[in-house]
This record gives sequence, C-alpha cells and structure tokens, in this order.
Amino acid sequence: MRVCTLTELAERVREGRELDGSVAITFDDGYADNAELAAPVLNRNALPATFFVTTHFIDSDRQAPWDVSAGIKSRWMTRQQVKALHEEGHEIGAHTRNHCDLGAVPEEEGIAEIEGSAQDIRDWVGAPPKHFAIPYGRAFPSLPRISAIAKEKLGFETVTLCRGGLLNPEIQVHAWERIPVSPVDYLSPYGWLFDVARDVNLSHS
Ligand SMILES: [Zn+2]
Repeated sequence: MRVCTLTELAERVREGRELDGSVAITFDDGYADNAELAAPVLNRNALPATFFVTTHFIDSDRQAPWDVSAGIKSRWMTRQQVKALHEEGHEIGAHTRNHCDLGAVPEEEGIAEIEGSAQDIRDWVGAPPKHFAIPYGRAFPSLPRISAIAKEKLGFETVTLCRGGLLNPEIQVHAWERIPVSPVDYLSPYGWLFDVARDVNLSHS
C-alpha cells in the first residue's frame, strides 16, 4: 500500500480519483509516545501521518477516563512536540479541547469545543487544522449536522469516525471511517492486515 496524507486522500476524493492501495496513518488524542516512539519510525521511513490532538490534554497531567479504568497513566505531548511534528511535515488535526462527547453535550458546547481546538492548533503551529476526528469515534444522531458545521462553517476538509471499515466516500458522506489499530484490537500486525483484506473483499463483492 502507498502511504499518503489525509489531505491527499481528501484531494483524490474531491477529484474522483482512484483510492485503491492508498492508506493514511492517523493517531488520536495527543499521547506523548506519538512524538517519542512513533514519529522517529515514521520519519525514518518517510511516512506522513496525521496527529489528532485533544488540545487541553497537551502540556497537562489530565488523566483520560479510559486510561484510569485501565490502570494506565495518561502522558500527553507538549506544545513543542506538536509543533515539531508539524515542522517535520506531519499534519495536526483537531479532536476538540476536552475530548468532548459530541453526541451527549448541547450543540453550542460541542461546536465551541471543536472551534476552540482548531484555534489552539492555529496558535501553536501557525496553520489551521484541515481535519477533525470525532472523539470516541462513533456516530450519534446529530453527526450529520455537526459534520456539516465543521466542514461548511469551520473549514475542515474531513471529519472522521473510528468504527472500523475502509474509506468509502459514496456511503460515508458525513464522516469517513477508519480502521483502529491498538494492542486491544490486535495482538499482531497480521490481525490488522487480515481485517483490511476482508474489508477490501467485502467492498468489491
Ligand atoms: Zn480520542
């Protein structure tokens, strides 16, 4: 497969070009290990990625509830690390300020969370984020509205979920799917490859 940026994928979708064989790598939340462990490997192999950061987690000791329940200590990137990723050619995406559950809060609060995280990123790296990942990665009834506001009013090129599945711009109008890769989901890279191969087969049958 050929690794490209999310921006290039969005461009290919806009132009109606073939997506087969293209993959974009993304990281959510803003964990310190993204900068410390993943970025050196990506850079060594010249692979671009998009890092969706929860901006109020950055430079903080905030403990994510999912880490607390798993008995893990949350460690987040610093602003300098976010800026360095941008300067190394990676994309910084928005993921709200406080990992807001957009399906559960009033709409104005959700929009303010998205807009605020975009503002923080613009202040830190000098460019507005082009991509927005929905916290928790799942759909909710107001997703079409929130997604339309994110794209039409806030200027995002893409809105992404994370429930598994390949990018299919024809059926995923409001938000694009991603395939999660985590030690919880997969014990080895073969598991991920198996899921991709299965999804490719399903989408072609
Ligand atoms: Zn997240």
